[in-house]
Amino acid sequence: METLCDATRVLKSNGVRVTPARVLLLEVLHSRGGLITAQELHGFLPAGSADLVTVYRFLALLVKARLVREVAGTDGIAYYEMACSHNPVHPHFECLGCGRLICLPVFQQEDSERVYAYGEGHEVESVSVVFRGTCSECLAKATEEGKG
Ligand SMILES: [Zn+2]
Ligand SMILES: [Zn+2]
Ligand SMILES: [Zn+2]
Repeated sequence: METLCDATRVLKSNGVRVTPARVLLLEVLHSRGGLITAQELHGFLPAGSADLVTVYRFLALLVKARLVREVAGTDGIAYYEMACSHNPVHPHFECLGCGRLICLPVFQQEDSERVYAYGEGHEVESVSVVFRGTCSECLAKATEEGKG
């Protein structure tokens, strides 16, 4: 298992100002894996260290620097995940039943880098592929109810 990216180093090397709160947020994003909302991330900060608006601003900065990817759910809520080599670009699945957003298996490693080039001639800031339908849990539940 590869060790996770060093948050302080990642911020510094991308010209992003380093604060204890920022390092903590990046570490949580990375260690938890998967998708997380700004609200959830804010909950990991010690009380009074940074407000929710600050968290949103920081996330916007990370998205711009391509350190983090933003995925929008149909509920209008933005979800965030790491965009480093530990979490290559992959599609997502959104369940229209329970609203869950699930990470699907990654594109091939080399495609992850190349995927930004697909927007040939345009300046790509973010990439998002979302499949929508009924998740396996909701399907199982429907089957159960059908039996009952
Ligand atoms: Zn990483
Ligand atoms: Zn579901
Ligand atoms: Zn994901």
